[in-house]
Amino acid sequence: MSSVITYSRNVFLPLTFVCRNSCGYCIFRRPPGDGCVLSPDEVLQILRRGAEAGCTEALFTFGERPEEVDGFLPFLEQFGYSSILEYCHAMAEEALRIGLLPHTNAGVMTADEMKYLSDVNASMGLMLETTADIPAHRNCLGKEPGRRIAMIEDAGRLKIPFTTGILLGIGETPSDRRQSLQVIADLHKKYGHIQEIIIQNFCPKPGTEMSAFPGASLRDMQETVRMAKEILPPDIAIQIPPNLADAEKILPCGVTDLGGISPVTIDYVNPEHPWPAFDELAALTKGYTLQERLCIYPQFIRKGWYHDKIRDRIISLENTIHMRGSSVIPAKPLYEGKAKSVYTSENPDELIVVFRNDMTAFNGVKHDLFTDKGRLNATASEFFMKMLEAEGIKTHYIRMSAPDKMIVRRLEMIPLEVIVRNVAAGSMTKKYPVAEGTVLDWPVVTIDYKDDERGDPMINDDLIQVLHILTGDELTQVKKIALLVNTVLTRFFDECGICLVDFKLEFGKAGGNIFLGDEISMDSMRLWDKETGESFDKDVYRFDKGDVITAYRNVLKRIIPEFSL
Ligand code: 5GP
Repeated sequence: MSSVITYSRNVFLPLTFVCRNSCGYCIFRRPPGDGCVLSPDEVLQILRRGAEAGCTEALFTFGERPEEVDGFLPFLEQFGYSSILEYCHAMAEEALRIGLLPHTNAGVMTADEMKYLSDVNASMGLMLETTADIPAHRNCLGKEPGRRIAMIEDAGRLKIPFTTGILLGIGETPSDRRQSLQVIADLHKKYGHIQEIIIQNFCPKPGTEMSAFPGASLRDMQETVRMAKEILPPDIAIQIPPNLADAEKILPCGVTDLGGISPVTIDYVNPEHPWPAFDELAALTKGYTLQERLCIYPQFIRKGWYHDKIRDRIISLENTIHMRGSSVIPAKPLYEGKAKSVYTSENPDELIVVFRNDMTAFNGVKHDLFTDKGRLNATASEFFMKMLEAEGIKTHYIRMSAPDKMIVRRLEMIPLEVIVRNVAAGSMTKKYPVAEGTVLDWPVVTIDYKDDERGDPMINDDLIQVLHILTGDELTQVKKIALLVNTVLTRFFDECGICLVDFKLEFGKAGGNIFLGDEISMDSMRLWDKETGESFDKDVYRFDKGDVITAYRNVLKRIIPEFSL
C-alpha cells in the first residue's frame, strides 16, 4: 500500500496582529490600531464558514503577549476581555460549540496559561524555530530558545498534544538545524507529547529587514526533512507547508503530513502564498494515500490526552473525517450502514468501503465510537477475504486504498444475512432450548431477511424462493459457500487458539456470479478463546464485558502476528 500523507482542514483565526516580538522577517505583526484585534463577530463568521466548508480545526494563531505593547489593551477591552488568552479561551469555546476543534499557538506561555487553555484546546503549538542565537531574533524576548524549550517541556508535563517546528533560512546553519531537531526529539523521548514537527522554509518578504535574504532552498528543505527522519522518533509526523514549499519534490524525503489547509481563510503569516485547493492537493500527492486527520493525532485520542469537555467534539469529528474518507472520495456515500459507508469510485464497477469507527448493537439502540476500530476491522476483513480467495471462494475484495478503506467489486446485494453456527450462543440460545456453549452436532446455517424495520426476521428456503430473493440453485450455492467459508475459517482460528462460534455473511451478484460481499471481521463473528472462553468479538461491546478495542487487537495479534498495532 502507498504511504499515507495526512492533512487537516482548518480555519486560521489571527485573534490579534499585535505582538511584543519584532522579528526581522515578519509581516504579520502590526502596531495597535483599528482592526488589530479580530472582533467576536468576525471570529464567529469565520468559524461558521469553516464549519460549512467541512473544516475540523480552528487554528488560533496570534501575536505573543500583545498586552506588553503600549496602546493595545483598549482594542481588546472594547470587546469585554482583559487579556488575549481570556479572549482566546472564549472564542475556543465558540469554536467547539460551532463544531471545530481549537488548536492554539499563542507564542510563549507559562504552564499555568497552557493549563488554562487546555480544557478548550485539542492541541497546542509553538515553533521552536531554532536553538541558535540569530540576529533576526535580536528584538524578540519570546524568541529566546531557552524560553521556548521550557514551554515545550511544560506542555509535555501537562500532557498536551503538541506541534512544534523549525524555520529554515533565517540565519541558522545546518548544524543548528540538527541541534534544534535533536532538542525536540529529546523532549519527546521524555514526555511523548510531540505529534508533529513543521519544517518550514522562510520566505523573504519585501519591506522587512530580511527582504534580501535568499530564504531556504529546495535542497535545504529536502536535506532537513531527511535529517528529521533520521533524528526524530517515527511517531512524530514530519510536516511541510504545501503553500510555501515544493511539496511534490520534498515528499519523497520522508514527509508524512501537509499541515492545516484552509478552504476558507488565508495563511496570515504568508499571505502571498495561497493554500492549494483540495483537488490540487490530491494531484500533489499522487502515488500517496491522502488522508484527513484532526488537529489532535489519533495516538493522543487513544491515550485520552484531552479534556472531558472536548471529548464529544473529538468523537464526532473523527467520525466525520472517517465518513468523508480521503479527499478523493465523493462527499456523499452511496450507502450508509451502521459501521460502514460505501462510496462510488471513478470506476463504475468498483466501490469504496470505508470501515468507520462506529459500533452499534441491538439494532442501533446502543451506539458509540471507538478510535481505530475501522482500521482493525478493515485489516481483519482484508486478511480473510484474501484467505478465502486463495481457497477459490469469490469475494468482492479488490485492494485496500487506505488502512480503513477497501476497494471492492460493485455487487447487487442480496438482502439476506447468512449465519453459520458451530456452537450455540446469542439469538440461538434465546430462541431455542439449548445452553450457551453447546457444541452443535454439525454446522448449522440459518438465514435472516435483512431489514432493520422488520427486525431482520428469520426466513426459510421456500420464502426466499417465493419472494424471488434467490432461485433454488442460487440458494444451494450460497449455503455451500457459507459452509466452505466455515471450514476454512474454523480450521484457521483453531490453529490460533480461537473457537469460531458463529458468524454472519452477506452475498451479492455481479455478471451472473455470486460473490461474498460485506465484511468478515470481529463485528460479524463470535470468537472465544479456546482455553479461557473469553470473548474477543462484538459481544465485549454488546454486553459491556471489557475494552472492545483491546479484544479486537488481541484477535489481530493472533491472526497476523506481524501486524503493527
Ligand atoms: P446472533 O443471531 O446470535 O445475534 O448472531 C449470530 C452471528 O452473526 C454473530 O457472530 C453476530 O455477530 C453475527 N451477526 C448477526 N447479525 C449481524 C448484523 O446485523 N451485523 C453484523 N456485523 N453481524 C451480525
